[in-house]
Amino acid sequence: MDGFTVAIDGPAAAGKGTVSRAVAEHFGFAHLDTGLLYRAVGAKVLEGMSAEEAALTLVAHDLENDQLRTNAVAEAASKAAAIPAVRAALVDFQRSFAMRAGGAVLDGRDIGTVICPDAQVKLFVTATSEVRAKRRFAELTAKGFDVTFDDVLADVEARDARDSTRTEAPLKPAPDAVEMDTSTMDISAAVARAIELIGARLGA
Ligand code: C5P
Repeated sequence: MDGFTVAIDGPAAAGKGTVSRAVAEHFGFAHLDTGLLYRAVGAKVLEGMSAEEAALTLVAHDLENDQLRTNAVAEAASKAAAIPAVRAALVDFQRSFAMRAGGAVLDGRDIGTVICPDAQVKLFVTATSEVRAKRRFAELTAKGFDVTFDDVLADVEARDARDSTRTEAPLKPAPDAVEMDTSTMDISAAVARAIELIGARLGA
């Protein structure tokens, strides 16, 4: 099973994280939320560091920061993520993670298209921006962040627009990705479908 990679891409708050964690737990795969790498870079930019330097000097400890989930960090992450040198600095770490023994799930925006174009299973998880903003709003308020629904919706839409239109590794499904729309499909149904697809590929 070494080098068995599951790539899960999609826009903000589509349910990638939930599907990835469930799949990783089910199959005993390691999981990397690649958005956290860009968020950690964004957090350092907010502290005054250049985005490229932040990406080049990132260490594991930088990912353990409670503030990485805020809208301000997400926005800074999305801006930093459009810079080719930032993306380039993070490629090797992500590819090594994907090849680790025992299988790996990586979720992000460009896993199936750029980071792991040979992934054994590729999923593209989407949902309407309203549904995604509702989920992100519930998540943030549950964590005690003081946000309004309109601000969360505006943030989600602005980030999607930036992530989809950038020249370097834009957010888009790989031609061979299986698309799942979680605005019409329950997250647990999406998890079940993902497990079924991966199970079929493992058995093949
Ligand atoms: O997934 P998450 O919302 O945590 O990602 C934060 C930002 O990081 C995204 O809006 C996107 O700009 C960037 N990102 C990326 N490529 C990835 C993962 C995240 O550009 N593989």
